[in-house]
Amino acid sequence: MVGCRCPVCSSDDPRDKRSRASIVVESCGNYILVDTSTDLRRQMIRERIPHIDAVLFTHPHADHVHGIDDLRGFHFIHKRVIPCYGEKETMDVISGNFSYIFKGLASAGYAPLMEPHLISGPFKLFGLEIVPVPLVHGTIPSTGYRFGDFAYLTDLNAIPETSMALLGGVEVLLIDALRYTPHPSHLNIEGALRVVQRLRPKRAIFTHLTHEVPYADGIRLPPGVEFAYDGLVIEPAWE
Ligand SMILES: [Zn+2]
Ligand SMILES: [Zn+2]
Ligand SMILES: [Zn+2]
Repeated sequence: MVGCRCPVCSSDDPRDKRSRASIVVESCGNYILVDTSTDLRRQMIRERIPHIDAVLFTHPHADHVHGIDDLRGFHFIHKRVIPCYGEKETMDVISGNFSYIFKGLASAGYAPLMEPHLISGPFKLFGLEIVPVPLVHGTIPSTGYRFGDFAYLTDLNAIPETSMALLGGVEVLLIDALRYTPHPSHLNIEGALRVVQRLRPKRAIFTHLTHEVPYADGIRLPPGVEFAYDGLVIEPAWE
């Protein structure tokens, strides 16, 4: 947190050095990025991601979108327009705020960088079935994504029953668990544990953590539950 000197912000543990919430899903050499976080450039360089073949958006909040311009670096290499996917409410805000990304901007010499696709149900990318999972994030909708036995649910404070039905049998669950204290638009750790109790995944990983939560506290989590950290690699069961 800028300007903060709390024990987590000044911790020597590299797992307490957190960039914004985002994941890359690799499927047969294709890289699907979920969200274009404010830290996208540093994350892509750090993890040596060679190209991005598609982007899925969860919701239009700045921390999940405002690194979008740095995708242009990949465009310089592969010269392809990158397809991106999201629900209508999310894509409307992003294409309104970043019209030059989708339409290009001749006066600046910018070619279109991304091509939007609206989703409203399961779809396939590179042979991988992707199930959007509608979530509640305070006053706006957010979209979780299920890939086989793995689900990534970020930025939510509630899961509608119809979405719970889409999550049956998930074995690895990566889920928002912001902090200990309650928040109006995020699950706190207690709320995320309630979801884990209900879905009973083999492995649950808590993400989008704030500086209220030292990584070392993970030792107090129940068996099968752990904290995420930057650079965490999850080997999926479907390969
Ligand atoms: Zn702090
Ligand atoms: Zn967020
Ligand atoms: Zn958010």
